Amino acid sequence: MGAWVGSGEAVDAAAVMLEGSRITFAGAAWQAPEADEEIRGDWFLIPGVVDHHVHIGLSDPRAVLSGGVTFARDLAWPPEDIFPLADISQATDFEGPAIAAAGPMITARGGYPTRSGWAPAGTGLEVSGPEEAAAAVDRVAAQDPSVIKVSLNAEAGPTLTDAELVAVCETAHRHGLAVTAHTQGPGQVERALGAGLDELAHCPWTERLSDDLVEALARRMAIVSTLDIHSYGRDTPELGVALDNLRRFAAAGGRIRYGTDLGNGAIPPGIHVGEVRHLEEAGLGSDAILRAMTFSPLRPGVEADVVGLAADPFEDLGALGRVRLVVRGGTVRWAD
Ligand SMILES: [Zn+2]
Repeated sequence: MGAWVGSGEAVDAAAVMLEGSRITFAGAAWQAPEADEEIRGDWFLIPGVVDHHVHIGLSDPRAVLSGGVTFARDLAWPPEDIFPLADISQATDFEGPAIAAAGPMITARGGYPTRSGWAPAGTGLEVSGPEEAAAAVDRVAAQDPSVIKVSLNAEAGPTLTDAELVAVCETAHRHGLAVTAHTQGPGQVERALGAGLDELAHCPWTERLSDDLVEALARRMAIVSTLDIHSYGRDTPELGVALDNLRRFAAAGGRIRYGTDLGNGAIPPGIHVGEVRHLEEAGLGSDAILRAMTFSPLRPGVEADVVGLAADPFEDLGALGRVRLVVRGGTVRWAD
């Protein structure tokens, strides 16, 4: 049927060739080199989808993979559980997506999520003072996390001080790690920006950000969308605020990453069309949405994670919910 092979580039009658765990060709079928083995289907091919915000321990990895998500970034779970799982998930016969993990959320004593029902003991790592904050990052960094996460939730307890935040950022950056934050409550996004953080783990929903702040964010930070947790398909004031912020962030050229916060409420595993529809409402076109959802278009050299959809997402984004084929690491892992 077709394939997404470059930014703004979809081809009809497409072929994708894999060798080992890499793509070696993606383009028009008539141009494809001879293959040893072939599977054919009436699919539109896109890369495996990346969910940048999950809590895999609260979901079913198998359903995540068969739903088209081949890479999931876990943003807070007890380190003794999540890091071993992330290791195991690298094997391409693991029944789930490849998992990258932040480990625990670094937070103030008594801060979010230490008193939250969803979070098992150890999901929050409490620190007090810049030295302890830096030492906590060193400890987490030794376990090979994909990112460092901090909590700045002023609505659920005390938050880290500016000095602690700066210590987290400087230490993480020394380890070559980015820092992402849960920001909630007035002024917390500004504090994250000021301390040198790299990403917001949720699009801000508790306050309308000023245009100046949005522009500064767009220059220096990325935003993980997680829009549908404010709505679950309904229209809510929180969703309205988040969409308003994201719309201006996108217009200012800010980098948006698709993320669902899977595990939080009624978010379905796999590609979540509800989240995609909200991104569309925020003004993103099909190509921008696919870029937010993947590491790269299908092209030679990239990881052989491929998803076959029953229809063309450039005609209707609802096609993203109709997954018929999932290839992870060069192996067919699920086919309808
Ligand atoms: Zn979360």
